[in-house]
Amino acid sequence: MMEQTMEHLYEQMGIDRAVYTFCEQIEEGLTERFQAIDRTAAYNQMKVLHAMQQNQLSEAHLFPSTGYGYNDIGRDTLERIYADVFHTEEALVRPHITCGTHALHIALAGNLRPGDEILSPVGKPYDTLDEVIGIRPSAGSLAEYGITYRQVDLLADGSFDWEGIRNAIRPQTRLIEIQRSKGYASRRTLSVEQIGTLIAFLKGIRPDLICMVDNCYGEFVERIEPTDVGADMAVGSLIKNPGGGLAPIGGYIVGTRECVERAAYRLTAPALGKELGASLGVTATFMQGLFLAPTVTAAALKGAVLAANVYESLGFRTIPNATEERSDIIQAVEFGQADLLIAFCEGIQAAAPVDSHVRPTPWAMPGYDSEVIMAAGAFVSGSSIELSADGPIKPPYTAFFQGGLTYPHARFGIMKSLQRMVDKGLKL
Ligand SMILES: *Cc1c(COP(=O)(O)O)cnc(C)c1O
Repeated sequence: MMEQTMEHLYEQMGIDRAVYTFCEQIEEGLTERFQAIDRTAAYNQMKVLHAMQQNQLSEAHLFPSTGYGYNDIGRDTLERIYADVFHTEEALVRPHITCGTHALHIALAGNLRPGDEILSPVGKPYDTLDEVIGIRPSAGSLAEYGITYRQVDLLADGSFDWEGIRNAIRPQTRLIEIQRSKGYASRRTLSVEQIGTLIAFLKGIRPDLICMVDNCYGEFVERIEPTDVGADMAVGSLIKNPGGGLAPIGGYIVGTRECVERAAYRLTAPALGKELGASLGVTATFMQGLFLAPTVTAAALKGAVLAANVYESLGFRTIPNATEERSDIIQAVEFGQADLLIAFCEGIQAAAPVDSHVRPTPWAMPGYDSEVIMAAGAFVSGSSIELSADGPIKPPYTAFFQGGLTYPHARFGIMKSLQRMVDKGLKL
């Protein structure tokens, strides 16, 4: 077969020339942004490679272990590598951590005791933590173990409420929960530098406070991580950035020896901690995923930047906006109309390598106060480092868009979403 033009290939996949040209012209203006993202990826790639070489990663580390998993040198080496990448004393990186929420739960539960208080100085944490902490009553929550919670909201302009934070620190305050990404809130994502300023302020008041950062979606977006600016722990999911799209499950906690060990006692059992936990053959995938994570994160980031620029130029509000610096891979777009939000998500689904023929529909998901639409055609179920989008069907009809294992795929997804909206009457 003869080679075709790119436009023709896209046309075969349902993208009109007008949509293609519109997006391509916007993309042409993003060269410098993309180069900066590539330079960050190159930096982080060296950081990961250096940690692998320093720890003499070997073929023997890639083999499975079974049973109790004592002396699993592959698992231990993986954790040494994570600790070096994040510049921490210790790391816990396990397939037995089922998701990000689970990782956050063991970090909290392992490090808190009855009578202790958690303080969030950045407003309400991610929805799934409501029941972990007990903000919404829930069986097994930290509240049931006598652990209390306080929060100080960000000020209207998004800055920290320094006075409010100072006043909220009490003798029983033990752990500070800092969420880097905005999650499903409309605040800005915190930069690592902002997190560092906040931690310095907190430690200036009480050096013994444990500062834990929910690092979900933030890994490798910048050259430094929260653990480089004073965080005692950073926590995240392997089916987001650091798994590089390959990890089929898992979570991580990096931080001080004491914090990570306490979390490990909660994951397995007191006295057992990190010594146990057979890796069942996932270590090779975790290693390779980490190796790819900097460039996969860069691909997702470029997709987010392209989406912001495309949709902002069409008059929609985008968070972050077209030109802002980023500290996570999430892009929010306010569509203001349910049918446009639905069309957007349909387009993302139709662009997927898996289940592209399936049409997502809004449904009443447990734990949400409105219907939610989700688009995900991923190799790893529910993975949000793969191209995905979701949004609650309520004003301002915001789509949360993230991922893309390769930039060409994210690019196609954005065009497909726009095409769907054009088909429903949107004017370019
Ligand atoms: C994804 C995410 C989590 C954890 O979510 P899981 O779905 O349990 O992996 C926690 N916090 C933030 C900010 C997140 O983005």
